[in-house]
Amino acid sequence: MQQILQTAIEKGCLGEGRPLAAFVDTNGTRETIRNLQKAFPAHFEHAFAAKANTMKAALQLVLESGMSCEAASPGELEQAIRAGFEPDRIVYDEPSKTRSILERVLDLGVALNIDNFQELERVESLLEGIPLRSTIGIRINPQVGAGEIGAMSTATESSKFGVALEDKGNRQALLDAYRRHRWLTAVHCHVGSQGCSLDLMGRGVRKTVDLALDINASAGSQQVQVIDIGGGLPVNFDSDEVIPTFEDYANHLRSKVPELFAGDFRVLTEFGRSIFAKNGFIASRVEYTKTSGGRRIATTHAGAQVATRTVFMPEHWKLRVSVFDSRGKLKKGDDGPCDVAGPLCFSGDLVACGVSLPTIEPGDYVVLHDTGAYYFSNPFYYNSFPAPPVFGLTTDASGALAFTTWRKQQTLEEVLNVIG
Ligand SMILES: *Cc1c(COP(=O)(O)O)cnc(C)c1O
Repeated sequence: MQQILQTAIEKGCLGEGRPLAAFVDTNGTRETIRNLQKAFPAHFEHAFAAKANTMKAALQLVLESGMSCEAASPGELEQAIRAGFEPDRIVYDEPSKTRSILERVLDLGVALNIDNFQELERVESLLEGIPLRSTIGIRINPQVGAGEIGAMSTATESSKFGVALEDKGNRQALLDAYRRHRWLTAVHCHVGSQGCSLDLMGRGVRKTVDLALDINASAGSQQVQVIDIGGGLPVNFDSDEVIPTFEDYANHLRSKVPELFAGDFRVLTEFGRSIFAKNGFIASRVEYTKTSGGRRIATTHAGAQVATRTVFMPEHWKLRVSVFDSRGKLKKGDDGPCDVAGPLCFSGDLVACGVSLPTIEPGDYVVLHDTGAYYFSNPFYYNSFPAPPVFGLTTDASGALAFTTWRKQQTLEEVLNVIG
């Protein structure tokens, strides 16, 4: 980290005129994807959940590494296509699909997961008279309950996602729908995102596979050929350790849902956070320091515009913070509790609150660790701050670092055009 920061400062990626920037470690990301691919057998197809990092360069990196892509909005779908994914390597999961996006998905031959019975009727009518090129499934809500973060749990009893499997009549209605529509050849679930245990995710997948087995038994054939088990592998934000690993999850599924490993089904996964989180970070220059009411405060440029969830839900999305001097040397020691504040005009705009940090001076840099997924890639326009530049960094065999611009610093003109 120290070497990256020093080089970033020397090369002008960070400095007084460029006080906020984000970085993605491309070698690290490739290695993470190799670990994913090694953990599961070859009949698993891994689609990257584009919302975790929708930048074109990020999508191209995962494409080059052999992943497919999960898109959950018209914008993500177009970005996946621009990045170069073939339509048969994309799966579309938006909950609120309009008729026109459904037409586009079916026309392209992108795989589709239907959210509810009304959407099923719509798809049925759209399929009349056009050749079927998409793999189509229904998303079920296995209703296995919430993980640690309510807002991120998609398999609670009353979740907005999918067909609630345990609600009265729904299981039969699903069996009837698959019997009526032989073009339904997939079943999809996604139990949640961050805060879900392997056990909870495994229980959701178990119920999904049980439904697929029931459908196939009642069809008397292997009608369901694809099981889409979603993403949601949680990320450890407390240290550099990767835990749980993809291998831990694979082993858990091997024991709880062995059918996935027998080769009878094609299995799709949709990991997002676990691909990029630990391979990216945000660095901000410290503009000022002060104490208020005895509390040390470092005023920086990293606030809710790049760390929205951390600022609004600090109890669930605490980030590790490190301090470096103006040349990029790691500062050590503990000068007592400190708040790391962002530039936005509300008092809750803190990316860290009361954490033990070394002495901080103006011109130092703070680093927000593990922010490669869902942070700088999803900027928030409160106070009209421009989105920061993002650099992809590569390390060559000699250990030399190179930075490529994944996204330029947004200009004020551009941000004001977005504001309208
Ligand atoms: C968000 C989402 C994912 C990815 O979740 P991660 O926690 O980033 O792995 C996968 N599938 C669906 C349907 C999602 O909504």
